[in-house]
Amino acid sequence: MTPVQFCDKCGSMMVPSSDAEGKKILKCRSCGHTMKLKGEMKVSENIRRTPHDKIVVVDDDSMPMPKVAATCPNCGNDEAYYWTVQTRRGDEGATEFYRCTKCKQTWRYYGGR
Ligand SMILES: [Zn+2]
Ligand SMILES: [Zn+2]
Repeated sequence: MTPVQFCDKCGSMMVPSSDAEGKKILKCRSCGHTMKLKGEMKVSENIRRTPHDKIVVVDDDSMPMPKVAATCPNCGNDEAYYWTVQTRRGDEGATEFYRCTKCKQTWRYYGGR
């Protein structure tokens, strides 16, 4: 909202206009006196946005997975790769997966830590 300004030369009401450069000014309807429009400060957009740390979930066998001590139900090996997959339903915890380092048997373990 532009406050009403009165010409400081003749006292008439000034109307919004623009100068040769396209800047907003106030112009007197009576004498043509112009003045810069106050309160038209540009909102600075210098807010730096820090990029969010992207959490990339890679479901790829080529990824190095941590090995944990787990007994393979297939061959009895006591070491397995371990990873978790968050299920879509929020009320469920992450599903834990194990893959035997020996026979590649994969099994799941549902929450319940
Ligand atoms: Zn005037
Ligand atoms: Zn196994």
